[in-house]
Amino acid sequence: MKYADVIVDISSGNLDRTFQYRIPDLLQAQIAEGVPVEVPFGKGNRMIQGYVVACSDTPAYPVEKIKEIHSINSRSLEIEDQLIRLAAWIRKTYGGTMNQALKVVLPIKKRVKLNEKKWIRRAAPESKIRNWLEENQNKRNQKGRKRLLEELVKEPVLSWEAVTDKLHIAPSTIQGLEKNGLIRVERMEVGKNPIQAEENEEKRIVLNEEQRKICAKIGESIQNGEGKTHLIHGVTGSGKTEVYMELIARTLEMGKQAVVLIPEISLTYQIVMRFYHRFGNQIAIMHSRLSQGERYDQMKRAKEGSISIMIGPRSALFAPFPNLGLIILDEEQENAYKSETVPKYHARETAIARAALCGATVVLGSATPSIYAYYQAMQGTFILHELTGRANGQELAEVEIVDLREELKARNTSVFSRRLQELIEERLKRKEQIVLFLNRRGYAGFVSCRSCGEAIGCPHCSVSLTAHKSAAGTRLVCHYCGYTMPMPDRCPSCGSPYISTFGIGTQRVESMLKKRFPAARVLRMDQDTTRGKDGHGKILSAFANEEADVLIGTQMIVKGHDFPNVTLVGILAADLSLHQSDYMAAERTFDLLTQAAGRAGRGDRKGQVVIQTYKPDDYSIQAAAAQDYARFYEMELPHRQLGKYPPIWKMAAVLLTSESEQAVREGARQMAKKLRTVPGLSVVGPAEASVARIQDIYRFVLYLRAEQGKILKDAKEMAERLASDSQIFKNLSVQYDDTPMMNY
Ligand code: ADP
Ligand code: ZN
Ligand code: ZN
Repeated sequence: MKYADVIVDISSGNLDRTFQYRIPDLLQAQIAEGVPVEVPFGKGNRMIQGYVVACSDTPAYPVEKIKEIHSINSRSLEIEDQLIRLAAWIRKTYGGTMNQALKVVLPIKKRVKLNEKKWIRRAAPESKIRNWLEENQNKRNQKGRKRLLEELVKEPVLSWEAVTDKLHIAPSTIQGLEKNGLIRVERMEVGKNPIQAEENEEKRIVLNEEQRKICAKIGESIQNGEGKTHLIHGVTGSGKTEVYMELIARTLEMGKQAVVLIPEISLTYQIVMRFYHRFGNQIAIMHSRLSQGERYDQMKRAKEGSISIMIGPRSALFAPFPNLGLIILDEEQENAYKSETVPKYHARETAIARAALCGATVVLGSATPSIYAYYQAMQGTFILHELTGRANGQELAEVEIVDLREELKARNTSVFSRRLQELIEERLKRKEQIVLFLNRRGYAGFVSCRSCGEAIGCPHCSVSLTAHKSAAGTRLVCHYCGYTMPMPDRCPSCGSPYISTFGIGTQRVESMLKKRFPAARVLRMDQDTTRGKDGHGKILSAFANEEADVLIGTQMIVKGHDFPNVTLVGILAADLSLHQSDYMAAERTFDLLTQAAGRAGRGDRKGQVVIQTYKPDDYSIQAAAAQDYARFYEMELPHRQLGKYPPIWKMAAVLLTSESEQAVREGARQMAKKLRTVPGLSVVGPAEASVARIQDIYRFVLYLRAEQGKILKDAKEMAERLASDSQIFKNLSVQYDDTPMMNY
């Protein structure tokens, strides 16, 4: 390469502005994306620091106007250098442009008007609050107030978000108590928190033998700065979080910093409070509702050393800590760790790459590890640690499988098996709560014609519309683009009046439940009922206040929420996620069922779980019922081997999209032809994506597989070169995905 595009001022946040320089012959071998360089700049040619973001053979200006790079900047790696190298790694691994990668890694600078954050403080003596609680003990309509005050007895200060989002208490309830003089709402600059770390070490939990061993082993890793990756496998409640906290404490003692990644949905109030108590003001919490300015401010505090621990979802990984010692990913199997926009990076691999740059240790934790991570552990690439039981002696829920085929034989066509009905009845009597989980929303799956067999589809996407019932009548909705139309009287293709809905959805479950148990108070949570502002919070708050006996919902109720009064969880159709045709379907089913089962019996009573299925013998369902991860892994791996799937084979996807079906079809064909010349690469396709059209954009996909990652990297570079050099790709978008987790 002869020329390099150099970015000279990253602090301005103006990452699009680059300057072209000539690469001197002597430096040819060393100049690459992400390398820090010194370049002459401006009229006086003063030397300034810059970073190479792209290389090319063609000059963008008259050659005589292009200056030459002076030298490679070889001073010790500063934090920016490290992050820019990480961006280069992301670019290389996941595709996209260097600019897109830089925007992921560097916080955009935005003038921050430091907003305030609200905190709720106990304003009356504890005794007075206890008195109030006693006096109002039996008042039904004071449930929200009671829960807040009970919390404030345990904890003198709570964050506003914790109270509204996590405890699900309404703002009006808070205002009411403030008028009573029992609490006070305080304001503080964002990023500061009034909760002090607890000095009292005696109250701290004493780690058990297993936990201590793990801490000793990983602690050594951190001390040595050898950049290893550890996997901690242990059921929910086995004490992983306690291990994380101990490891963080050791990291801080060594003068290093720590990043903790938690999927947004699991970032619960309880978790946040535990970290605050242990580490007080040394922590910054990142979540999706922070503004860009607030994020930038958090990142700045990390760089300056006023905090040492960053907790948050995916993006917290890029905290600019100067001496990062530890990166923890809790629930490492979660899909949320994969970015859905270009560059489609995965936080797990990116964490490992960052750790390699600075000698940090990576700790992955999970009750149901990804097959990928467990496989790495079996291969010895990751170091495996097991926590074998619950740390506080709480029992695991009891799980039973109900065979829906038997129900049909017994002429029970309801969505509730006889066993589930029996248990629901029992819980309603005992005034305990129930969660019913269905992996689908809407009243029915789709509407189809019994005369011609056509399903009514979206005019803009290649999917069937879904029926949604409301007071105004039934409407058909597209879940991909939002297109909606009233339910027609006749089939749009053949005019037949015999059209009807198929499949069940949460709405249907709700109406059937009300019919069967008229006295039950029922709440439903899905994308339809949570659409309004804070629709989510209101439903969860009502359920937490025990204003309902049953909560019906989709995926969104499975993870993260803790309701101590829930003692029964019913999974209505466990196989639905098995019907998805991609190679990870069994893994997702196992994960979902295990997590759903974990929602039962979080209080002091033992929980019960009923899994309804047409495939009672399926190994993912069997293993989930037995809560036996190792068994699932052993059954799943041969399937991956046989089908040449990850983690044994490496796999990538190339998605091509365009408004013109003709153009994208031709582009995909050319791309496949070219890629088939790569030795050792297996190319599947091109084929229409499983959703072949979204919002009038046509989608084609190629799947690439190889035994070695290197072959895929070569393929990716070839695909990118073809896409940028060849005319036919001018009007196509070509996206590369290094870790496809679902079918496109
Ligand atoms: P996980 O993160 O695996 O779900 P936690 O660390 O949250 O597990 O522990 C579950 C519960 O057990 C918590 O209430 C925690 O305080 C408690 N616990 C953890 N370790 C111990 C221990 N060594 N002794 C007593 N209780 C413990
Ligand atoms: Zn028809
Ligand atoms: Zn549509």
